[in-house]
Amino acid sequence: MTSRVCLVHYHEVGLKGKNRAHFESLLIDTIKAALAAFSVDRVVRISGHVLVTFSDADDARRAFDVIARVPGVARVSLAFRTRRVPQHYCRAAIAALTEFGSFETFKVHARRSHTDYPLSSLELNAQVGDALCQAFPDKVVRMHEPDAVVNVLVVQGEVFVYARSERGAGGLPVGSAGKVVTLLSSGIDSPVATWLLSRRGAVCVPVHFSGRPQTAASSEDLCQDIISAYAPAIQIGRLYVVAFGDCQRAISLACPSALRVIMYRRMMYALAERVARIEGARALVTGESLGQVASQTLENIQAVDDVVSIPVLRPLIGSDKQEIIDRAQAIGTFDISCETASDCCTLFMPRRPETHAKMCEVRRSWDLIDHEGMLEQLMDTIEYVDFTSGSYRPPRALRERHRSLAQRGADSSME
Ligand code: ATP
Ligand code: MG
Repeated sequence: MTSRVCLVHYHEVGLKGKNRAHFESLLIDTIKAALAAFSVDRVVRISGHVLVTFSDADDARRAFDVIARVPGVARVSLAFRTRRVPQHYCRAAIAALTEFGSFETFKVHARRSHTDYPLSSLELNAQVGDALCQAFPDKVVRMHEPDAVVNVLVVQGEVFVYARSERGAGGLPVGSAGKVVTLLSSGIDSPVATWLLSRRGAVCVPVHFSGRPQTAASSEDLCQDIISAYAPAIQIGRLYVVAFGDCQRAISLACPSALRVIMYRRMMYALAERVARIEGARALVTGESLGQVASQTLENIQAVDDVVSIPVLRPLIGSDKQEIIDRAQAIGTFDISCETASDCCTLFMPRRPETHAKMCEVRRSWDLIDHEGMLEQLMDTIEYVDFTSGSYRPPRALRERHRSLAQRGADSSME
């Protein structure tokens, strides 16, 4: 019997030496989580690939696009799985080439893995090639750069045949590189930065600063939309939301106008570091790109880094805006980021922001505000929204705090 399956290829995951088994099982877990809505039968390792089987035949075709977006997947192929019977796998090869789409030239690429099958790879190439030449008499066999390649993989008693194959997201499975806190605005850059860190295997915990109560909450909704756009291939477990409007107002009243933006950023970073401590995250991530806007000069970057002691990762620091836009379009966040939302970025902005801040002036200005008091107050009122995620583990500290809050609520309702 012939069935449809997805064959997942991975490069970097396989290169991890002694950790290989750990990375492979993380990849399997993240693929399973991403395919929760499909009729997945099994996700197992098979001869340097991950094989995904389904109980509903149509699901392989639909799951193909989802699997391609899962970090750690180098390539995914939509394959026919047949018995080791020439008639069966030759028929599958014809079907695979038919569904490939338009092509003029093709070749067969056969491989054998751990098998006692009597035909060699070369003999298999010739056998399947003959069948295809008969089925497609007006097409041409070409060994060098053909339009279509029909792959035939013999593994023990089974044969996998595929022509449809797509490059995956690449990178490493989420969960293999620890946790980071990402500063997520609803702009174009930080959703891309968050995606890039997820692609490198980090569990990303975004923190969003909203202009509430000075503005509406629309930027918060857009952040949730961005998180939905990553799913189900990348599953963010929790979005922290900070109502930052009043704090910005206080800063704008107390600090020199030109330094306001730097003060806002310092407050954001310092708060994100506190969230990172609670979450057990080892770094902050931002979407800054050198020189892109006034606040992103080397002096200003130094002026905000000054307030935190954990590393601040800036995966877009050397990217051009157009490259970032291209990536945002590819991952599906661009259109969301283009929606206008009132957020804290446009609130209480100075007419002439400082582009080359001097550290002594920055620190002096910082001391004009009760920054510790503000941070504590913001941490006390921080909110969060949870999403389905196979890789995120909530921190115990907050879980206990919320349990005690729930308990307090229950006690007061009994009084
Ligand atoms: P983005 O496109 O990510 O909004 P930007 O080009 O608007 O970035 P800035 O406003 O200088 O640049 O922000 C720099 C970085 O600071 C952002 O990439 C983001 O990581 C963080 N940041 C800015 N505003 C917010 C916010 N409201 N909430 C969370 N993080 C923010
Ligand atoms: Mg922005």
